[in-house]
Amino acid sequence: MNHFELRGGELHCEDTPLAKIAEAVGTPVYVYSSATLERHYQVLRDALAAEGVKDPLIAFAVKANSNVAVIATLARLGAGADVVSEGEIRRALAAGVPPERIVFSGVGKTEAEVAFALKAGVAEINVESEPELDLVNRVAQDLGVRAEIAIRVNPDVEAGGHAKISTGKADNKFGVSFSEAERLYAKASNLAGVRPVGVACHIGSQITDLAPMEAAFAKMRGLVERLKGEGLGVERLDLGGGLGVPYFNQPEPPAPADYAAMIARVTKGLDVALAFEPGRVIAANAGVLLARVTHVHQRAEGRRFLVLDAAMNDLLRPAMYDAYHDIRPVKPRAGEAVTYDVVGPVCETGDTFTRDRALPPLQAGDLVAFMTAGAYGAAMASEYNSRLLVPEVLVKGAEFAVVRPRPTYEDMLARERPAPWL
Ligand code: PLP
Repeated sequence: MNHFELRGGELHCEDTPLAKIAEAVGTPVYVYSSATLERHYQVLRDALAAEGVKDPLIAFAVKANSNVAVIATLARLGAGADVVSEGEIRRALAAGVPPERIVFSGVGKTEAEVAFALKAGVAEINVESEPELDLVNRVAQDLGVRAEIAIRVNPDVEAGGHAKISTGKADNKFGVSFSEAERLYAKASNLAGVRPVGVACHIGSQITDLAPMEAAFAKMRGLVERLKGEGLGVERLDLGGGLGVPYFNQPEPPAPADYAAMIARVTKGLDVALAFEPGRVIAANAGVLLARVTHVHQRAEGRRFLVLDAAMNDLLRPAMYDAYHDIRPVKPRAGEAVTYDVVGPVCETGDTFTRDRALPPLQAGDLVAFMTAGAYGAAMASEYNSRLLVPEVLVKGAEFAVVRPRPTYEDMLARERPAPWL
């Protein structure tokens, strides 16, 4: 459920007409709903609580939506942060996430990033390989601290979804095998700079079937039991694997209650603190990309292009993952549906959001909203074709705030320097 709906023939975000935001901020622009972000977090938290999962750490995956105001909205409800870079740690801290609720994942943490994380006092570093274990151990000792770490396991399951967002197959770069995890956990328990506190996994994103998740999590349970059996302390289990969201024509994702019941089933009696790293399921339906029709180009030979002022640099998912986004006119006109190829102005054929999409009739100047764009939208935006970085707006009821303004062309050029020989 989200808070984008037609009222009086006009698409609103909560109590704010999207047209009002377009008027004030211009287009393209991302618009997020506070109420939807909050609701998604609360639904997940409450579903887990209803199944008796005690005080889980729900660490919002900052990569899905890195805007500080978005993270702060969730932090106020008690969310932690799952981060994969120093930049994301800084964003989480700036948003008010306490360091003891920040989990640092990622396959290529640098020495500087590990040092930054340890100085900041993050809760846990999810170690993804042996060289990384050695690195964290060394950096922690140099700093005179003992880093709490989890070993990230690659459970080798096929979770469905697009190949580019699968993270839990043996040939994906993430984590170590179960046998490696056991060896590294035992090794870590003898190192002076680290304290192994748990194990972690992440099996992929946009998962719409609970069965592979349950299979992977059952394997993780087995690992926890084996480690405990060897006399090693395991206090935490981080069960990552991103629940899918309804992208209109995709399989229906599992209900949070069914997901929570599966978690409770698979972890029953295990006596570990649980952590989760949801991104998309919280943020995707809480945001839209608002764009304006530049013109309709009707080819004499037939194809009809709806040319927008938003492009692949603003919303990369269709070009990168063939992702489907529902496109809704902000003030739908009456009349028969018309078939369009919806494109942006970037000089790439890939800058095509969709082909042969039936939409209500549209004209130059009309506004459209790409739905389900709150995750992996603005976070992946760039200035490709020297287009200004897309701004972001956060709505709360009838109020809205520009939480990342559109830069000016002067800002864009001021970041560069002439080479001395030019
Ligand atoms: N945590 C890790 C380690 C990830 O790799 C990802 C996504 O790939 C996430 C969390 C967030 O996944 P999602 O946005 O599908 O919930």
